[in-house]
Amino acid sequence: MAHVERLVLTTLISVQFPSTRGEGRPGGAPGVVDYRLDRRRLLRAFRAGSLDREDVCDAQIELLRVAKNYSSAAPVRCPVCDERSLRHVRFVFGPRLPANGRCINSAAELERLAQKSGTYHCYLVEVCLDCRWNHLLSTFPLRSQRSA
Ligand SMILES: [Zn+2]
Repeated sequence: MAHVERLVLTTLISVQFPSTRGEGRPGGAPGVVDYRLDRRRLLRAFRAGSLDREDVCDAQIELLRVAKNYSSAAPVRCPVCDERSLRHVRFVFGPRLPANGRCINSAAELERLAQKSGTYHCYLVEVCLDCRWNHLLSTFPLRSQRSA
C-alpha cells in the first residue's frame, strides 16, 4: 500500500485562504511583499490588551487541518502561546490552479510550478496548531531554482 501513502502525501488541496489583515511592504527581492510589520503591529495590539485572543487566534478548521498535514515546522515558537506548534503553510496561486489557491508543501512541486509558463505566486502563512494563531508572512513569485 506504499503507493496509496505516497498519493496521500502528494495530494494537493485547497482551502479558504486567510485574508490579509493589513498592508504589506515590498521585500528585498522583486515581487516580494513582506507582512512582518503588520504581524508585529497586531501582536503589539494583542499584548497591549486592545485585541482579544479570539481576534488573533482564529484559524479556521480547514486551515488547521492543512497546517497539521501539509506544512513544515516553523523555525520559531508561536508568538501568542509560545508553544512549538507553529507551522508554515504555502499557498500557490496561478494559471490552472484553483481561484482560492492550492496548498503545496513539496519543494519538488514548487520547483515544477516555477518552471511552467505564467506567473505563480506563493503565500507563506504561519499557523499555530495549539492556539490557532495565523498570519500571512509574505507573498513572493515562484522562481525556478534551475534558471536562477
Ligand atoms: Zn500558539
